[in-house]
Amino acid sequence: PKLSTNTYLDQIIRKNVSGHSSDIELQNATLLMLVRNWEIEGALKSMRSLEDRFNRNYKYTWTFLNDVPFSGEFIEATTAMASGKTQYGLIPSEDWNRPSWINETEFENCLQLMREKHVIYGESKSYRNMCRFNSGFFLRQAILDKYDYYFRVEPDVDYLCDFPYDPFKIMREGHKKYGFVITIYEYEDTIPTLWDAVEEFIEEHPDLVNASTNSLKFVTSSGRIGKTTPIVESNSEYNLCHFWSNFEIGDLNFFRSEAYLKYFEWLDSKGGFFYERWGDAPVHSLAVALLLDTSEIIHFDELGYFHAPFSSCPDGRSLRLAQRCICDIPQADKVDIAPNSCLMRWWKDGGGKRFMKNK
Ligand code: GDP
Ligand code: MN
Repeated sequence: PKLSTNTYLDQIIRKNVSGHSSDIELQNATLLMLVRNWEIEGALKSMRSLEDRFNRNYKYTWTFLNDVPFSGEFIEATTAMASGKTQYGLIPSEDWNRPSWINETEFENCLQLMREKHVIYGESKSYRNMCRFNSGFFLRQAILDKYDYYFRVEPDVDYLCDFPYDPFKIMREGHKKYGFVITIYEYEDTIPTLWDAVEEFIEEHPDLVNASTNSLKFVTSSGRIGKTTPIVESNSEYNLCHFWSNFEIGDLNFFRSEAYLKYFEWLDSKGGFFYERWGDAPVHSLAVALLLDTSEIIHFDELGYFHAPFSSCPDGRSLRLAQRCICDIPQADKVDIAPNSCLMRWWKDGGGKRFMKNK
């Protein structure tokens, strides 16, 4: 007999997710995608890639967030694509929209200014909501309360190699709180006063910042590293290096901590998410660099990744073969040791290889 859509959905939702081989130890973690309904094709592509490269062996739950309700079509297709369960969260409007204390005239002037300067996403209002949400509100969504770790996924990304491990397990066993793949320089025009605000925060809360064990040097060192001269000059002490947050694996308990919340509230009170165009990537990165120990940050060296326009692939032919990598994608710049990458700086002034050795 022909199944009704409901029965069909029911069946795929209740699919068996307990059939793991016994040596797999699951972590308390979810794959997290903030996405719009119209991005469904890109969402499915990213899902297919991550399922194939990693999750089909683990079946971690996918969590989808949206500022408007997901369409039935979106829910149906993503549920079908997942190897495990899926869940869908509607973001409360107060966690998404521009707060009422933002001065509208000043805001419109700033948009106009950024439009004239051709700042990337400079005139977008929704992009600002998104960046502020990803900076300070994803961690407050009730749908994530029960998890310790999230793995951020975006539409239209690609994972270029089989995962040689469960990154969540690496995080827990290594006491890591933040994991990244790509690190590059931020566009200074989007964050002219972010560093000032962060410095003020440090002065207000010296107890939260331990300069002898954190990664302050990674975000403030300047000048040439090795043979590479960075292509970016900064006007502040912040060298503009940030972890590219479209791929990130984070410990939610860190982002929910009093220290991070204080940090976010401080930055938010400055209005820079709106009067400038602060991205969640530099906001996360500066928090991670200042509030965490360097040893709590991990560069996932072995995970191939693509998000336009950059890609990253593990070094070494045998690794690439063993992990079935496809590294040569025509539309991508290989960024790892390019002059616009901060990875060499991470190796030198951040955690880098130092910690790989004692793993
Ligand atoms: P880019 O990577 O900086 O070019 O920005 P994206 O357009 O990829 O946006 C970053 C992430 O936020 C992606 O996962 C998008 O799907 C999501 N996103 C951006 N704007 C919105 C929005 O207005 N609503 C929702 N629900 N998601 C958004
Ligand atoms: Mn993106």
